[in-house]
Amino acid sequence: MPKPYRQSLLERYSMALCYGSLLLGFATFLLLLSTSSASAAVQHRGDSGVSLEQLISGVELNEQWQFHLGDKPEWSAPDFDDSTWETVSLPHRWRRDEAASPDTAVGWYRQRLTIELTELAQREQVVPLGIRLGSIYSAYELYAGGKFVGGVGKLPPHSDTAIDFNRQAVMAIPLSAISAEGELVLALRVWAGETAALSFAGGGPWRGQFELGSYGRLLISAFMSEMPRLHSSMFYILFGLYHLYLYFRNRQLKSFFWFGLIAIDIGLYGLMLSQWRDYLGWSFVLYQKLEYGSVYMIPALSIQLLWTLLGQKIGPCLRAYQLYFVVVALALLMTPGLKWHLLTMGLWQFSTVPAMVLAGALVLRKAWFGYPEARTVALSVLIFIATCLNDIAVDNFDYHSVKLLPWGFLAVLVSMAVSLGNRLTATLNRLEEEVGQRTAELNELNQRLLESSLLDPLTEVYNRRGFAIQVEAEIKRQSRSGRPFSIVLADVDHFKSVNDRFGHALGDYVLSHVASKLREKIRDVDSVARWGGEEFILLLPETDSAGAAILAEKLRSIMAELPLEFEQQSLSITMTFGVAGYLPGESMDSCIARADAALYRGKADGRNTVKIASSQSSGRPPS
Ligand code: GH3
Ligand code: MG
Ligand code: MG
Repeated sequence: MPKPYRQSLLERYSMALCYGSLLLGFATFLLLLSTSSASAAVQHRGDSGVSLEQLISGVELNEQWQFHLGDKPEWSAPDFDDSTWETVSLPHRWRRDEAASPDTAVGWYRQRLTIELTELAQREQVVPLGIRLGSIYSAYELYAGGKFVGGVGKLPPHSDTAIDFNRQAVMAIPLSAISAEGELVLALRVWAGETAALSFAGGGPWRGQFELGSYGRLLISAFMSEMPRLHSSMFYILFGLYHLYLYFRNRQLKSFFWFGLIAIDIGLYGLMLSQWRDYLGWSFVLYQKLEYGSVYMIPALSIQLLWTLLGQKIGPCLRAYQLYFVVVALALLMTPGLKWHLLTMGLWQFSTVPAMVLAGALVLRKAWFGYPEARTVALSVLIFIATCLNDIAVDNFDYHSVKLLPWGFLAVLVSMAVSLGNRLTATLNRLEEEVGQRTAELNELNQRLLESSLLDPLTEVYNRRGFAIQVEAEIKRQSRSGRPFSIVLADVDHFKSVNDRFGHALGDYVLSHVASKLREKIRDVDSVARWGGEEFILLLPETDSAGAAILAEKLRSIMAELPLEFEQQSLSITMTFGVAGYLPGESMDSCIARADAALYRGKADGRNTVKIASSQSSGRPPS
């Protein structure tokens, strides 16, 4: 059968498509990474001046910062001598030492640049000048040329200082900040706050781009760099909603329900990682709770999805492990502030490692044993796990990378789409098979119904309608091939008296006996029908009237010699036969009429005889 072949081909094809698009997706992703790091910004090196061209295309500011813990107002001044400070490059974080002076909650970063802008006209070309700052942990203030330029959050001595980070900023720098000699001194005052003490990684410039350049260009590039995050987040949320919709349309698609929830959860996480969340106007703490809360739910949902998808039962231990993630996520949302979360975050992250090991092992084992869903999702699950590990490393170690989890999920998404397609195809094939089977059954039933409508209920030979169909077909065949066929009418003699003497029941018995005898004695290609009352008709293909007469004679003698036994009574019957060879071109009725005329002659001639019709069409003379 060609069907299974087509199915397996389709499966292989979709698998290739899945892995192909995964590769393509990751190529695009790498491209995205390389273009974002190789942006137009040029590296600023030490004391060499910054030229106009460099400023226009952007100057990267990640190197050559002077750093010092502590907090003094004069550290913002351009002429302060910071040469004894430590030189660091960004991102740079420090852990607040609780035992040391409370000063260690604040740190300063200073950078001195010489800008080679001599003519006023040249200066005006880069107006307004701007600076782009990646996310800084936590509140900070920026000074340029000793003047306050801008900041995020509130620092001491404010009493209501609050942590606020993960937010990049683009600020305008007034030209007056550049001295007459072209010197620009940047000073960044960072408050690491309680979170820096609590979190493993500490506070300070956290991640992202630090760049000096045209204010307008920096605004645009900051905006554009956040676009993929927004796109992917929205895409995940919509994709998730679509899967929930599919589930509510068909409750059997349980894995779609869990996949829908995961997609929405990860969409929310991606949105919380992006700068777009700031447009929601909520508090920083709430953003963080949503970000971590959504991450905390991922292991529980992933286990649910993968185990459902691969038809694996979740045991009590695994269920408890799953529940642990849900409880921790709810606890995080419920407890005020971020303190407890920051204290336990590392612990939580490492507690997800068993989930990854279990998931990886399950999918590999299932794939190895040929489970088709496992083969479709195996690669994407492994990629997803790798991105999770990457994100854990970013949060817990001095390891700098983009957070990859939402991208890793893209792989899962693609393979889920393929898995959906495969399942749809399988369902369609099954349906097709079922429909085929039902159709065959229906056809058979129809056939039986049709046959029974063409049969005589008493004798179970054809009725007039059934016989007419046979004869019409035979007439057509005759007109094509010219082969002869004959019709024989046979009538039980004095049947009325059988009824009268023995009753109707015996009469019926005689009729079915005669019918079965006739059927028994003719060839398979011949047909017999009840023409009405005690009259039967035979169709004999490939037989001329002489041949038909021989058969009729044989039937006549069989009937005459066979005594019938019925309820201890014995009787014998005779039959009279009228034979007509079909004349090319004549109608069925005409042929039967000629047989009938012959039969009539037989009756007139004393019955129990065979008469052959003349080849002239003539009806039975009126009685
Ligand atoms: P002939 O030799 O001239 O054919 O005489 P006959 O009595 O056989 O012919 P006639 O046409 O006079 O009578 C036919 C009888 O067949 C009349 C009717 O009672 C009987 N008959 C017709 N159909 C049935 C049937 O289904 N069952 C029974 N038991 N009798 C039937
Ligand atoms: Mg009769
Ligand atoms: Mg009759």
